[in-house]
Amino acid sequence: KSVEEVRPLLVKPPFDAVELGEGARARVRAMFGREMTAAEVVARIIADVRKDGDDALLRYTELTDGPRLSAATMPVSETEFAAARAAVEPAVMASLMKAIANVRSYHAERVPQSWMTDREHGAKLGQRCLPLERVGVYVPGGTAAYPSSVIMNIVPAVVAGVREIVMAVPPARDGSVNPYVLAAAEAAGATKVIKAGGAQAIAALAFGTATVPKVDKITGPGNIFVTLAKKAVYGYCDIDMLAGPSEILIVADGGADPAYVAADLLSQAEHDVLAASILITDSPALAAAVEREAARQLAALPRSGIAGEALARNGLIIITDDIDAAMELANIAAPEHLEILTADPYAQLPAVRHAGAVFLGPYSPEPLGDYLAGPNHVLPTGGTARFYSVLSVETFMKRTSVIAYTEAALSAVGDDVIRLATAEGLEAHANAVRIRRRTDVADSPRS
Ligand code: NAD
Repeated sequence: KSVEEVRPLLVKPPFDAVELGEGARARVRAMFGREMTAAEVVARIIADVRKDGDDALLRYTELTDGPRLSAATMPVSETEFAAARAAVEPAVMASLMKAIANVRSYHAERVPQSWMTDREHGAKLGQRCLPLERVGVYVPGGTAAYPSSVIMNIVPAVVAGVREIVMAVPPARDGSVNPYVLAAAEAAGATKVIKAGGAQAIAALAFGTATVPKVDKITGPGNIFVTLAKKAVYGYCDIDMLAGPSEILIVADGGADPAYVAADLLSQAEHDVLAASILITDSPALAAAVEREAARQLAALPRSGIAGEALARNGLIIITDDIDAAMELANIAAPEHLEILTADPYAQLPAVRHAGAVFLGPYSPEPLGDYLAGPNHVLPTGGTARFYSVLSVETFMKRTSVIAYTEAALSAVGDDVIRLATAEGLEAHANAVRIRRRTDVADSPRS
């Protein structure tokens, strides 16, 4: 089987051409009185929020999510946090706290540190690694609740030292927010939670409104409206990445357990009808067994409708001559999640060039990474693992270079700077060096 079968399965950025489903199209017609593409809808919503601030934000919240909120009820209140804390079962809260602790300790392993180094003639050079001051974290709402996404976005920001973390999450029809999401937000360290979703939430975070502070960067996954809005506001603030539907690619040999392989393929298929689940194996026997096993496990899933459609649309089993060829195809796909279930999975690791996250061996199923292992689950999709990285502490930091020359150090390189400035036709640049070597100033051209 060929590469060409892998490529079309992954939904590719830049996403502008993604077709809306009939439900979304009907809503767009109801809101704007005509058919519009997702990109047009997003441009319109952003323009309105920029112009009318909270009024537009609240209006679109009502139009797309249902509740009529006010500037006073849009931020989650202390009472709402307390109700959420009370509603979460103690065992679930304990698991959330364990997840937060694991994610924090993993991310705290390698926090970029500022540094200074000595150069000739007493010069010093360095770099300051500084946290962003205010970030926005988008947490998807819609049909499911994602307390794990709350943790994966907020904890690295806290570890980086970000002081203000504004989270946006779409409210339910009754104006409430899922208690697991709120409890996780509070425990992870959100400083403000706004009940708003979609493009209007992204616009509010990027440009600010009376109620929503303008942030320096927006991170977090979302649907097509969220993703296109992030793309549109990039430059006004930073964003983490443009992510599409989830994917898993499993490279397995004949020794892999077909039940494990099928379960892991289904774990992504249940996310979304656009999710992709791909098995690449050198064993026709494993391929056949996984197909049977997946059908059996699928039938018992509560979300079998979504998972079944995802498998039908974007499920694929590819049989290769050997595992090396399977790894080559995996690199071409550059999947979000790559599982390696071979006799010696560590032996394949050096061959991985493009993947969001790698899971080695039979006891590292992808959902372990989704929730609890510690590494981040916000990962590049659609082949963008070629150039995007997993969300991390660095995502919430920036670097500033530091230059501190002495008179002797400047004098040692002064001629070179002047020569290069002159070559670029930038005499004022050259003068900034000449003026520090007073004898040279008189030689400089005056006109
Ligand atoms: P969402 O929060 O992304 O989107 C809901 C918002 O979309 C609503 O608030 C509304 O404002 C807007 N919207 C919906 N229909 C609209 C329309 N017709 N016109 C204008 N705006 C509209 O929630 P969702 O829709 O459930 O999507 C969640 C996505 O996030 C899924 O694709 C899921 O796979 C993904 N996800 C990814 C990860 C990850 O780590 N990669 C984790 C969790 C979820």
